[in-house]
Amino acid sequence: MDECIFCRIARGEARASVVARSSRAMAFMDIAPVAAGHVLIIPTAHVADIYELSDEDAAAVMQMAVRVARALWAAFAPAGLNLISSNGRAAGQDVFHFHLHLVPRVPGDGIRFRWPHSDRPDRDELDALAREIRSHLEIAS
Ligand code: 5GP
Ligand code: ZN
Repeated sequence: MDECIFCRIARGEARASVVARSSRAMAFMDIAPVAAGHVLIIPTAHVADIYELSDEDAAAVMQMAVRVARALWAAFAPAGLNLISSNGRAAGQDVFHFHLHLVPRVPGDGIRFRWPHSDRPDRDELDALAREIRSHLEIAS
């Protein structure tokens, strides 16, 4: 039984507010209040961290991140954008399935983007944000 939450999301077995999907990569909204507004981009196959990422998955994940970044720009024109990957517990990684965080930023924001309505978005709000971003993706995936 595979317990990796991101593998379960990639297989459609766990709920997620999906932003984009291809055979090799997937993007969805982070559910955690502390990371409200982040979009997570993962390889669909289980890869623990950056050291194990194949060139093909690296390309697919980065291409999806760039496309989502453009869609975020088109939808919300954030003042800035961070692209982050933590690798290893000491670096702050807490789900050991490789992922990028795409973080829209607004002026005065400390470490995270405070997405329009609240610091504690509920599922409906994340679904709505995911829908809005999806509507601006150049290539629906
Ligand atoms: P890390 O801290 O490893 O860089 O990032 C892991 C991220 O995955 C955290 O921001 C956490 O909120 C997010 N996360 C963990 N479990 C789930 C989940 O079940 N669904 C979603 N959408 N995000 C999750
Ligand atoms: Zn996994």
